[in-house]
Parts: sequence; C-alpha cells; structure tokens
Amino acid sequence: MPIHTEPLYRPPSEAHSLIFQITHGCSYNKCAFCGMYVDKPFEIKPTDRVLAEIAAVPDSYAKSVKKIFLADGDGVVYPTEGLLVILDALNAKFPNLIRISSYCGPQALMKKSGADWQQLYERKLKLLYFGLESGNKEVLTLMNKGMDAFKVLPKVKELKSIGIAFSVMVILGGGGKRLKQEHIADSARWVTEASPDYLSFLTLFLRRKKDYFNGLEKPTFRDIFEESRDMIQLIEGRNIIFRSNHVSNFLPLEGRLAQDKDRLVSSISGAMAHLEEKGLLDNYPEFYEEF
Ligand code: SF4
Repeated sequence: MPIHTEPLYRPPSEAHSLIFQITHGCSYNKCAFCGMYVDKPFEIKPTDRVLAEIAAVPDSYAKSVKKIFLADGDGVVYPTEGLLVILDALNAKFPNLIRISSYCGPQALMKKSGADWQQLYERKLKLLYFGLESGNKEVLTLMNKGMDAFKVLPKVKELKSIGIAFSVMVILGGGGKRLKQEHIADSARWVTEASPDYLSFLTLFLRRKKDYFNGLEKPTFRDIFEESRDMIQLIEGRNIIFRSNHVSNFLPLEGRLAQDKDRLVSSISGAMAHLEEKGLLDNYPEFYEEF
C-alpha cells in the first residue's frame, strides 16, 4: 500500500481517491501565503520505491480503485520519463481506474512539453489542480508566486485542448484593499479566457509571511465578499463548476457559472446584509492574526 509521510494534503474532491506520494513537499515552496510544506524538504521519491508501493496494493483492493491522486504539492513536477513508468504501473495495477490527478504549479506546467502532457493524458492523467491565486501581476508578485498568469495561460489552453481538465483556485483577499479591483478584474479575465472545468475561491490565510499586508491595508469582510461577488459577476463562464466551500470561506457557495450567477450573487448579498445588520461587515477577519 502507499506509504504516506505527513503533512499530506489533497483537494476535498479527492477524499475517496487512493493517494500515492510520488514527491514530498513542494518543488517551489516559496509562496508568501503558503505554510503547507515549510518544514518538509522537497524530494522526488525514487521510481523504484513508488513502483514497490504500487505492487504492494492487494489485487482484491485494487479492483475497487477508480481515482488516484499524486501528491505532494506539485506531484507532476516528477521527471516525465519516471512519471510515465509510474502511470503505466498504475494503469496495469488498477483495472477500473478512471482518472489520475495532481496539484500542478506553474513550474511543473511549463517544464513539460505539449508532447509530454499528451503522453501523460493518454495514461489517464486527466485533471490538474492549479493555484492561479490571482490573475494580477502585482498581486502575484506580492504572493511570490513565481508566475505571470497571462504568460502561462497559453499552456493551460494547450493542455485543455489535449483533454486535461483544470481545477483552478483563486485566493480572495490576496491583493489587500489596495489591489482589490485589479485582483478582481484580472482574475475574472483569466478565468474567462482559460474556461477551467472547475473553479474554487479560497480566502487568504497568513500561514507564512505575517507582514503580508504591510502597505496594503487588510481586507475586511466587506472586501472579501465584494471580491467574490464581483468576480462571479465578471466571469463569463461556460459551464464552470464553481465551489467556494473551503474551511477558509465565510459563506459556502456552489453552483455553475454562468448559469447560477444570480443565485450566487444573491446569497452573497444576503450574507453581507446580515453582517451589516450586526455591525460586523467592516471588521477584519480574525484569522489574519491567528497563524
Ligand atoms: S501554494 Fe503550491 S506552489 Fe506555492 S508553496 Fe504552496 S504548495 Fe508550493
């Protein structure tokens, strides 16, 4: 069976997937907001060890596995040659496998050629979880994301044309008050152009750089709700499955964009009215201080 080392993170939608940690930590590990792998050195697990873990899964159990998630923070950064060997072994071992997925950072995304991604897709790598965080250059610099969102966009489109689905994450509050409008406009424009299959909003947690908001002014509940509302309104979605139900979100939301736009906006307006009535709308979320 797979051997796991903590901490182990996976997207909520992979709760029922079998997880193989083919890397440990994150190859980049420098995003200013992210504390997931601060104390976990990056390692590419040797292919032989991964193959041994795959071989150790009992055949009786292997038949029941439909989805596999490759951890850790950007599993697909694994060198393509070894990754193809691993995917072949997974396909041979799990006869009812439908899809393989992984987190993917911009470094892993750009490192592989279209031909590499095509070969991976043919071996059932069908879904990538991609942390856009923001479409705005200045916000991404503040986040130390190491990416220009619009420079990686053609690559995202190329992978989509191969058939690889994208689940994109945007971080509410990432631009503070000062960059709020730019964050909204550029993130909505990027999402509209990329047209990912899934989109989720998370809210900024300060798990790494405690002085993140220096010179920016922290966003209030009002700012966070307005970002969520305005992005939803601006995104011209074509059947994007939308979720905003991470533990960091103040209001759980789910629907499809653009079909459910009015309902989602109305839920946000309702929550804002409720907080306004309680005199809390212009307060700062406490978790900025908690980590
Ligand atoms: S957000 Fe993703 S890419 Fe950035 S440090 Fe965390 S795991 Fe790595």
